Amino acid sequence: LVSRRVRKEDTTIQLGSTVIGGGRPVMIAGPCSVESYEQTRAAAAALKAAGVTVMRGGAFKPRTSPYDFQGLGIEGLRILKEVAAEFGLKTISEIVDPAHVELAAEYIDVIQIGARNMQNFELLKAAGGVKTPILLKRGLAATIDEFLNAAEYILAGGNSQVMLIERGIRTYEKATRNTLDISAVPILKQESHLPVLVDVTHSTGRKDIMAPCAKAALAAGADGIMVEVHPNPAVALSDAAQQLDIPQFERFMADVRSSGLLK
Ligand code: PEP
Ligand code: MN
Repeated sequence: LVSRRVRKEDTTIQLGSTVIGGGRPVMIAGPCSVESYEQTRAAAAALKAAGVTVMRGGAFKPRTSPYDFQGLGIEGLRILKEVAAEFGLKTISEIVDPAHVELAAEYIDVIQIGARNMQNFELLKAAGGVKTPILLKRGLAATIDEFLNAAEYILAGGNSQVMLIERGIRTYEKATRNTLDISAVPILKQESHLPVLVDVTHSTGRKDIMAPCAKAALAAGADGIMVEVHPNPAVALSDAAQQLDIPQFERFMADVRSSGLLK
């Protein structure tokens, strides 16, 4: 069902006036984690001012260490909803428990399935059982074929509103947090009709190369970019080293837009 051979036309995901897929690339931005109402609101105000229409923010955080901040859970989704309503933004947040998939639609516009859960088949089946759009991240060590098969689970369950996002894969290279697989973009676009995005934060882990990597992704045909933005990254409860602060985000947007690849 995910294959271009089955469906020639690009799948599009309509989020209010924003359309993901089918031509005009979008920028999705926001904090790694929803930490408080004030922090989320400060990020949202900056995103709105920069012309962003879709905000991300994690409430259920899949952390490597059990002692790290685990997210605010449902309270985080509630904050996201309240802030998004104030600024007229659409929202994306990760869901990790199949039991939360239906409930999520009350709070957010897009359910993210994270890299660590790309092959959580019960979660994929639950995502296939709702109408909420799904943002599926490529697994840390998933091949393109495994990635597409994970998406297939969601479509096979009856939900065709699926977006794919390349977020870097594990290689021997240590200069970046993960290795951004730019070649995945044109391959996924050829193989599938689903929108393809690139997460420049978790792939690179490096603020100094996020803008060129975003431009490369767009030049390769990506339908959108995801980037993490925090009003005060120094005190962020997750991914403090790689979230852009607001002036950095403004420079990032200006740089990416100067390429003419993002409106
Ligand atoms: C995230 O986007 O919040 C995240 C945890 O990313 P990933 O699943 O790609 O590691
Ligand atoms: Mn993060």
